[in-house]
Amino acid sequence: MDAKNLTIKQAHELLISKKMSVLELVEAVLKVADGARDLNAYLEIFDDVREQVEVAQKMIDDGRSTMMTGIPIAMKDNILIKGKIASASSKMLENYTATYDAFVTKKLRDAGAVFIGRTNMDEFAMGGSTENSAFGVTKNPHDKTRVPGGSSGGSAAALASGSALGALGTDTGGSIRQPAAFCGVVGLKPTYGSVSRSGIIAMASSLDQAGPFAKTVEDAEIIFDCIKGYDPMDSTSEPAGESPDFVSSDERLGRNPDNLAKKEPKKPKVIGVPTEFVNAKGVDPRVLKNFEESIEKMKKLGYEVKEINLASLKQGLSIYYILMPAEVSSNLARFDGVRYGYHANGANLLDDYMRSRGEGFGGEVRRRILLGTYVLSSGYYDAYYSKAVAAREVIKKTLEVAFRDVDIIATPTTPTPAFRIGEKSSDPLQMYLADIFTVPVNIAGVPAISIPSGFVEEGDALLPLGIQFIAPHFGEDALFATGKDFEKMLGDNNI
Ligand code: GLN
Repeated sequence: MDAKNLTIKQAHELLISKKMSVLELVEAVLKVADGARDLNAYLEIFDDVREQVEVAQKMIDDGRSTMMTGIPIAMKDNILIKGKIASASSKMLENYTATYDAFVTKKLRDAGAVFIGRTNMDEFAMGGSTENSAFGVTKNPHDKTRVPGGSSGGSAAALASGSALGALGTDTGGSIRQPAAFCGVVGLKPTYGSVSRSGIIAMASSLDQAGPFAKTVEDAEIIFDCIKGYDPMDSTSEPAGESPDFVSSDERLGRNPDNLAKKEPKKPKVIGVPTEFVNAKGVDPRVLKNFEESIEKMKKLGYEVKEINLASLKQGLSIYYILMPAEVSSNLARFDGVRYGYHANGANLLDDYMRSRGEGFGGEVRRRILLGTYVLSSGYYDAYYSKAVAAREVIKKTLEVAFRDVDIIATPTTPTPAFRIGEKSSDPLQMYLADIFTVPVNIAGVPAISIPSGFVEEGDALLPLGIQFIAPHFGEDALFATGKDFEKMLGDNNI
């Protein structure tokens, strides 16, 4: 069996027709993972995989299987799995064992998925290269001298190397889509509120969203269908029409719920291309060429392409680097060395706090806590934080207006292909620029998907590139429809 190229859909068919057992599948994947240990994609391979395999096989034998039953999945290390360590790749939580399942974990567990292990990430999801992990960098399977992207670099590398059939990540400013693009796999950042954040270690709560990595758009859809859903434990959970006793905020507020409720998916026809935004400073000409070729191919498929102006999205990074650290500083205040995680003894209580946080957190996390505390402090709150909150509305509005004319917006996922390990680690501003195309999506809360769009040659390596499709709130169906078209065309034409 070729575990590297096997999709979830294909594995499902082999499992339910009994042409393959769950054990055979999982053992094949574990063998690949063992051979790819030098990537440092996994922080831990779980010791109860066999027990999980038995549960899944029984579900299949009893005729209770779902699309995810028996499917080996990699989980980012900030998603709680009861009884397992969830460290967020931080020394602070190195020995923290989860006491409950995250909502997404429970959904996957109930569906019979097999959790293979937990994957490396930038500490507390802060970063775009997985170099900020307290447990070493993860390498890109396409070129081991390069980063896999981040912060969900371990999940992307695990999947791309064939060490899982699907993976979960989290995306606050691009952490699913950017590593998906760098590793040549599909990555979906769902609509804010469609996948519960309960049981996921928070970074910036108004931006965080969990989502799937998969080899194909269809597989991403299968995982998304499994993990989405209303959850009363997350006050921002909002999947209209997903639960029989679900009352959407629209209904509660007396608005027309039909606007949100899942209707027969409308096939997208018009793609908006924000040429000026896409041609931002620092975008690799090879990325632009690949993007233009992709758009030409979409035209041949019958899509109408419209030029749109999204100039205000250029402010996305500035807004993000005020809002995000503000939320980070508040979310991470709980790690004080008393209630959670790493503790260092100091001369007095204040010294305990300072030493525990100073030693437990890495440099990037401390930088963001400082920035966040600064922008929230009295005197600067109005100058920075309030302005960023107001500017966030402008980005939301810009996209809302754009979606009156187009069904989907397309951009490259990243301005460059995967960079070398160490290349940007001493220059945080350069690193932050890697998210120029992904960050506005989180600011607005809309869904977006990154799909492999070809390769560029660098020495001996072929480095993957990705195209990003963005849809209006709850427009995942449109992303899947266009994504499948694009993928098929890519397969046919092999650009
Ligand atoms: N790279 C971005 C950052 O460093 C995004 C991180 C994320 O999405 N978790 O904040």
